[in-house]
Amino acid sequence: MENKNYTIKCPECGTDIEVSRPAIINVQNDPEYKIKVLTGELFNEKCPKCGQGLQVVSRITYHDMEKKLMIYFRPITSQEELKTFDYEAIRSAIEDNFKAPNYAIRVVTTVNELMEKIKIAEFGLNDGVIEIAKFVYFDIFTKKFDGIGVVNIYYERRDDKDALIFFCNDGKTRSIMIDPDVYASIEKRFSAVVNAIYTSRVCMVGRDWALRMIKAYSKLDSEKDSAVSVKPELKLLDSEN
Ligand SMILES: [Zn+2]
Repeated sequence: MENKNYTIKCPECGTDIEVSRPAIINVQNDPEYKIKVLTGELFNEKCPKCGQGLQVVSRITYHDMEKKLMIYFRPITSQEELKTFDYEAIRSAIEDNFKAPNYAIRVVTTVNELMEKIKIAEFGLNDGVIEIAKFVYFDIFTKKFDGIGVVNIYYERRDDKDALIFFCNDGKTRSIMIDPDVYASIEKRFSAVVNAIYTSRVCMVGRDWALRMIKAYSKLDSEKDSAVSVKPELKLLDSEN
């Protein structure tokens, strides 16, 4: 495994911290690194002088040959990076460098998204369906929890069930079970687009993608609220602080 070296300054005492990271993780060759990504351990560093712990993110290409999953983690950690983030340039570079049929090729910009994509693949789910499901459940969530803002939603496996974890602005997280019928209904309704993202097209499959798809489909459709034909219910698995 080839490592890249970075030097960062400790935010506490200003000491230079040397960080050595793999640029490419091949899950079949280095299975322990999959665990390190999923636990977040890979991104945790400690200042050798003052002991301050900190999260340091770095560009990583994550390759799982068995699952035909390729994730390009290109972190955005500041406004400056957000301004200079050039998705088209990243996409065309990937297209020039990586060619294999029927892959899911993703570009993600946060550690949470990276972990989420790996978990979704782990349980054989389609990340496009999951992103659309977030909108479906967000709608009924906001009706039930009126006045509680949702900061983020991530997929998680809870008690052997697929769930969406809502991170709310009251500091709590709430886990909503994904009804398999709702999942199947989205998969059927959006089959063209959710299948297309597994044919080696480089894409960012997140909130913006899901919103575009839902809008495109509702234009095609005369009926209102056409994202899902099954009526979703709010099944709360748990609520934590
Ligand atoms: Zn320090």
